[in-house]
Amino acid sequence: MKLVRVLLTALVLGIAGCGSGTTTPAKPYVNTDGYPLDVCVVSGEKLGTMGDPYLIKHDGKTVKLCCSSCLKEFNTEPAKYMRILEDAEKKKTLGK
Ligand SMILES: [Zn+2]
Repeated sequence: MKLVRVLLTALVLGIAGCGSGTTTPAKPYVNTDGYPLDVCVVSGEKLGTMGDPYLIKHDGKTVKLCCSSCLKEFNTEPAKYMRILEDAEKKKTLGK
């Protein structure tokens, strides 16, 4: 899956690179709901770079993953990934 994504990214960048300059860059993903992270807790990749984030619910909390293949990884160690999210939430609260 990783390799496929790299290839896809290269393809997209290649197309954008030889455009006439009128190609609009991919919209950066913007959190509008207070979610503390802009990256996938599993892969660390920026959310939105591969399309809409993949939303899941764990223990009543929304978790945003960059793609559905990260869900498998998430399910192997949900506590570990939930901790990343909780840490980010704490940091965000402290930063206010
Ligand atoms: Zn992913």
